[in-house]
Amino acid sequence: MSPNPLLAPWETPFGIPPFNLIHPDHFPPAFAHAMDEHLAEIDAITANPAKPTFANTIEAMQRAGQTLARVAGVFSNLVVSLGGPALEALDTEMSPKLAHHGMRVALDPALFRRVDSLHAQRDTLTLAPDEARLLDRVHLGFIRSGAALGEAEKTRMAAISERLATLHTQFGQNVLHDEKDWHLPLTETDLAGLPEFLRAGARQAAAERGLDGYAITLSRSLIEPFLTFSARRDLRQIAFEAWIARGMHAGAHDNRALIPEILALRAERARLLGYPDFASFRLADSMAGTIQAVEHLLQEVWEPARQKAAAERARLLAVARAEGFNDTLAAWDWRYYAEKVRAADYDLDESLIKPYFTLPNMQQAAFDTASRLFGLSFIPLPDLPLYHPDVRAYEVRDETGHVGIFLADPYARPDKRSGAWMSSFRDQENMGTAVSPIIVNNNNLARAEPTLLSFDDARTLFHEFGHALHGLLSRVRYPLQSGTSVKRDFVEFPSQVYEHWFELPETLARYALHHETGEPIPPATIARLLAARGFNQGFATVEYTSSALIDLALHTHPAPETIDIESFERDVLAGIGMPAEIGLRHRPAHFQHLFAGGGYAASYYAYMWAEVLDADGFDAFLEAGDPFDPPTATRLKTILSAGDTIDPMELYVAFRGRAPSTKALLKGRELV
Ligand SMILES: [Zn+2]
Repeated sequence: MSPNPLLAPWETPFGIPPFNLIHPDHFPPAFAHAMDEHLAEIDAITANPAKPTFANTIEAMQRAGQTLARVAGVFSNLVVSLGGPALEALDTEMSPKLAHHGMRVALDPALFRRVDSLHAQRDTLTLAPDEARLLDRVHLGFIRSGAALGEAEKTRMAAISERLATLHTQFGQNVLHDEKDWHLPLTETDLAGLPEFLRAGARQAAAERGLDGYAITLSRSLIEPFLTFSARRDLRQIAFEAWIARGMHAGAHDNRALIPEILALRAERARLLGYPDFASFRLADSMAGTIQAVEHLLQEVWEPARQKAAAERARLLAVARAEGFNDTLAAWDWRYYAEKVRAADYDLDESLIKPYFTLPNMQQAAFDTASRLFGLSFIPLPDLPLYHPDVRAYEVRDETGHVGIFLADPYARPDKRSGAWMSSFRDQENMGTAVSPIIVNNNNLARAEPTLLSFDDARTLFHEFGHALHGLLSRVRYPLQSGTSVKRDFVEFPSQVYEHWFELPETLARYALHHETGEPIPPATIARLLAARGFNQGFATVEYTSSALIDLALHTHPAPETIDIESFERDVLAGIGMPAEIGLRHRPAHFQHLFAGGGYAASYYAYMWAEVLDADGFDAFLEAGDPFDPPTATRLKTILSAGDTIDPMELYVAFRGRAPSTKALLKGRELV
C-alpha cells in the first residue's frame, strides 16, 4: 500500500498540501494516527518527572499536535470549499471524534495540574509578555472547558461538546442541502428587468444543472441581484420565500428541531461553569466583556436605524406609487424599489456600474493596496497543483523574502458552502523554525466571463483580503496566538478597516476600468457612488442589528429547550419593533454563524463592535492627511502582526493613541 499522502512528508513547493494525491479515504486513517500521536505527546508532557516549567509544559503543548493540525487544516477547508458526498459523510463521522479528542486533551487532569501550578506562580516566572499572555490564555482555556470541575461535570462537558459538534455539522449540511435543492427555472419571458450580467449568471447556473435557459439559485450572487432587478413581483416573491425558508422544510433536513437542542446544550455548559446563560459565558471572554456593553452598542444604533429605515420606506413607496404600485410594500419589494430610488436620487444604475468592476482588477487593487501600506508583493504561481481548477495561487513576499502563500477561490459551486470567508491551510508560527502561512479566501461569485462584481461584492473581496493579511502578516512565536486567533469581536477589525481602501476615489479611478473599453469609471460616477454610501443604510442596519438582537435573545433565554423557533422569532421581532417590509438577514433556521459552528454564537454583534474600531481607526489615516500615511500604516501593521500576543484594546490604543469612539460609525452609516 502506498503511504498516506497526508502523513508522508510534503515534498511540494512551499510545503503546500499535495492536493493531487489526497483522496477522501486518506482522512480517517490520517486522523486516527494524528490523534494517537497527539495523545502520546501530551502523555510525554504529563509523565515528565521534572517540575512544570513554561518550556516543558506550555511550550511543549504548543509543539504537540502538529500532524493533527496539518491533517485538520486540509480537511476542514476541503469540506467547505470543495464539499461533495464523500467529504460531507466524513465530516459527519469525524466531527464528534475530533470534539472527543479535543475535550480529552482539554480535560486531562495531569496536564491541567501542571498548567494550574504554573499559572499560580506566574508572577515569579519572569516570562516575556507573549509567554505570560499565552500562559493566561491556556489556563483560561482549561477553566472554560471545565478542567477545574468535578468528575461527573467533566464527563458531561465532554458529552455536550461531542453532541454539539454533530449538531453543528448537521445544521450546516441541512442549509447546504436546501440551497442545492432549490432553483427557479426561467424562460426568456421571465427575464423582465434582469441586466445582462444577471442573465449570464443565470444561464451559467442553468447549464451547471444540466438545464436549458436560465436558473436563479439561492447563491447570494444570484438571489440578491434577482430580488433587486426582477420586474416580476410574482417571481420575486417565490424566490424570496425560498430564500428565507432554508432550513425550515419539514423532513430530514429541518433545522428547526436542532436549534432548541443546540441552545440547551450551550446553556447547560454555561451553567456548569457558573454562568447564568450562554451569552454571559461567551461575553466574559470578549473585548466587550458583558451583555450590557453589547446591548448598549446595539441600542445606540437600533433606534436611529429604524427611523432612517422609515424615511427610506417612505421614499421607496413614493417611487413605487409613481409607477402605479398600489399594494402594500412587502419584503420582496424592498431591494427592487431601493434600486429604483438609487437610480432616481443618485443617478446610479447597478447594471452600468458593474462593467467597471472585473474580478482580476479588483483582486489587483487589493494586492496593490497591501503593497503600498505594508510593502507586500504577490507573485502568481500558475503551476501549483491545487484542489480545484478555480483556485489561483500567489506567493506573498516582502523586502526580506518569502512571507506566505495566498490562495483565491472566487466562484460559487453547487457543493461549496455559501458566503465569503478566509481560512488557513497552515498558520504562521516561529518556535525556533519559521513556519510561513498558507491562507485562502473564498467567495461565491457567479461564474461568468468576464466576472463582473457589484460594488458590494468588490467590498467583500477587500474584506476577506483584510482577514488574509491578518494571517499573512502574523509574526508570533506560538501557534495559539497566530494571525486571526484573536477575540471574536476584534477579528473583524482588520477585515473591515481594509474595506475603506476599496472606497477611496483613487482606488476606484485606477482599478474600476470598463471591461470592454478599458476606460476608467468616470469621476462623476465615483462621486455619485460615494455620495450614495449612506443610501439604504437604515435598511442594512436594521437587517443586521435585528439578527444580532435575535442572537442575544436566543443565548440569554432561560429555558431554551422549550423554544418554538418560529413563534420565538415572531415575538422577538415584534418586541424590537422590526419593520414588516424588512426581512431578517439571517433567520435562525439558516443562521450558520450561530449554529453551523460555535464561532459566532452570542457574538454576531462582533461585526458592529469591530465597525466602531474600523470607522474610528481609518479616521487616523484621514487625520494624518493621507490614506497611505506611512507612520500610520506601520502602526496598523503592528496590529496585524501581533496576533493574540497583546490584549486587543491595548493594541488598539497603541495604534490610535486613545480608546475608540462610536462617532465615526454613526456618521459612516448616516445615523446621526
Ligand atoms: Zn469577516
